[in-house]
Amino acid sequence: MNTMNSAQNRDYDVLVVGAGPTGLLLAGDVAAAGLRVALLEKRREESKLTRAFAVHARTLEELDARGLADELLQTGARLSDLSIFGAVHVDMSKLPSRFPELLITPQYQTERVLLRRALDAGATLLRGAEVTGLRQDADAVEVDALVDGETVTLRAAYAVGSDGVRSTVRRLLDVDYPGESAISSVMLADVRLDTPPEDVLAVGASKQGFAFMAPYGDGWYRVIAWDHAEQLPDSAPVDFEALCRLVTSVLGKDHGLHDPRWTSRFHSDERQATSYRVGRVFLTGDAAHCHSPAGGQGMNTGLQDAANLSWKLVAAVRGWAAPGLLDSYQAERHPVGAHVLRTSGGLLRLSIGQSAPLRLARGLAKALGSHLAPLARRGGMEVSGISVSYRDQAPAGSHRLVGDRAADVALAAPADGKGPTRLYEALREGRFVLVGPDATTSGEDFPADWSDRVVTATAPSLTSEWLLVRPDGYIAWAAENPTPTQVRTGLTAWLGN
Ligand SMILES: Cc1cc2nc3c(=O)[nH]c(=O)nc-3n(C[C@H](O)[C@H](O)[C@H](O)COP(=O)(O)OP(=O)(O)OC[C@H]3O[C@@H](n4cnc5c(N)ncnc54)[C@H](O)[C@@H]3O)c2cc1C
Repeated sequence: MNTMNSAQNRDYDVLVVGAGPTGLLLAGDVAAAGLRVALLEKRREESKLTRAFAVHARTLEELDARGLADELLQTGARLSDLSIFGAVHVDMSKLPSRFPELLITPQYQTERVLLRRALDAGATLLRGAEVTGLRQDADAVEVDALVDGETVTLRAAYAVGSDGVRSTVRRLLDVDYPGESAISSVMLADVRLDTPPEDVLAVGASKQGFAFMAPYGDGWYRVIAWDHAEQLPDSAPVDFEALCRLVTSVLGKDHGLHDPRWTSRFHSDERQATSYRVGRVFLTGDAAHCHSPAGGQGMNTGLQDAANLSWKLVAAVRGWAAPGLLDSYQAERHPVGAHVLRTSGGLLRLSIGQSAPLRLARGLAKALGSHLAPLARRGGMEVSGISVSYRDQAPAGSHRLVGDRAADVALAAPADGKGPTRLYEALREGRFVLVGPDATTSGEDFPADWSDRVVTATAPSLTSEWLLVRPDGYIAWAAENPTPTQVRTGLTAWLGN
C-alpha cells in the first residue's frame, strides 16, 4: 500500500461514519475540542423513524457533562420504575445519581439535541454520503463515499464506524460480528389512542406475547407488540386489526388504537464485533454490538461508547495520548458490550420465555413483589449504566476508586460567583478535572501546555482524596493526601509531559 498522507495532508482529523445518536455524540465531542471532523451520513433527511425511547441515568450524566441533559429532559417524561414487558421490575428511584430515573423520549429528540450541538461545535455534516470504501496505512485512513453518484475520497488521522447494525465500516475492516437471533417478528406501529394509558408507558406480557406503548409527546404513540404464535419475516405486512386484538388482550384493556401512520416488523439479534479497533479505525454503537431492546440499552450503550472514545481520539490527534490509550477503548468497552448482551438477553428470555422454568421464574418474580426490592435496585444500577466501572483495567496498586464512575460532587463556590458548582459542570470543558479538598494546594504550577487538558476544582466534601476525573466522568487517578510531586506524577501518566 502507498503511504497516503502526512499529517499536514489530511482533510480532517476524524471521520465519523453514520449520524445516528452514537456518531452525533462523538462528532460533537471531537469538534468541541477543536478538531476537524466530518460526519458522513447516507440519509439525505433527518430520520423520521424512532427506535429507542429510553434514556438512562448514566447517559443523562454524560449529557449533563456536555450541558445537554436539562434540554433533553424537557422533551419527555421521567419514570422512576421500569417494567420490562410487565414481567421484570427495575427500580431507578434509589440510583445514586442526579438523575434517579429513566427519561422516556423518542430517539429523534436525542438526535436533534446532539446534531445541533455537533454543528454548533463546528462538525461538518455530509448528508447523502454513503461510505463504500476504506483504506489505511501507518499515517492516515482514507474513506470513499458515494455522493450524487460520484466517489469522493476523504483523508483523516482516524475514522469511526458509527454506521449501525449493518455497518459497512465493519464489513470493510473484515471484522466478524458473531451471534444469534434474539427475537423476531416484533410488530411496530405509530398510532393514535382513544384512551391513553394512565402511566407514561403501558407494558404487559402474557402467554400470548407482549405489548408496549410509549408516547411521542404530540398525541402519537409507538406500539411494540409480539405474538408468540405468529412468527413472520420482517417483510410481512402488519395486520393492524390483529395487532389491536393482541395489544388489548395482553394489556387487559382496549386503548382504542386507530389511524396507524406507519407499521413495520423487525427482528433483533444478539451480536458483538470481535474487535472494536483495527489500526486507525474504531467501531462504536450498533456497529459494535446489538441486542434485544429489553431494558432499552442499545442507544445508551452506544452513546457511552462514544463518550469513552472521543477524548482519547482528541488526545491522540493532539499528540499527548498516553501509550495504549487508544487500545483502552476496546479493553474498557468490549466487556461492557458483552455484559449488556447477557443482561438484555436474560431480561428478554425471562419476560417472554414460554418454557416451564421461565414461566415459574416469572410467576415467582411477580408473587414476591416488594421482597425483590434489593434485586430491583441492583437491576437499576445495571440497566441504567450507573454500575459500569473500568476498575479491572486499573494498573496494579492503584487507589480503590480508579476506574470507577465519578459521582457528581458539589464544588466550592467560585470567588467571582461564576464557574462550575458541580463536578459535571466542570467536565463541560471537555478536559480532565483534578478535584480535591483545596485546589489551591494542588502543587506546583502545571505546565502551561496542560491548560487544554485539565482544569482544577475544590470539592469541600473530599477531605483527603484527590481525584483526576477523565472527560468521560471516570476516575483516572486517585490518592489520599498526595504530595505535590505525587499529584504531578499522577497527572503526567495521563496528560503527558
Ligand atoms: C424497536 C426498538 C426499540 C429500541 N429501544 C431502545 C431504547 O429504548 N433504548 C435504547 O437505548 N436503545 C433502543 N433501541 C436500540 C437503538 O435504537 C440503537 O441501539 C441505536 O439507534 C444505535 O445508534 P447508532 O448511532 O449506533 O446506530 P444507528 O442509529 O443505526 O445509526 C447509524 C447511522 O449510520 C448511517 N449509515 C449506515 N451505513 C452507512 C454508510 N455506509 N455510509 C454513511 N452512513 C451510513 C445510517 O443511515 C444511520 O443514520 C431500540 C431498537 C429497536 C429496534
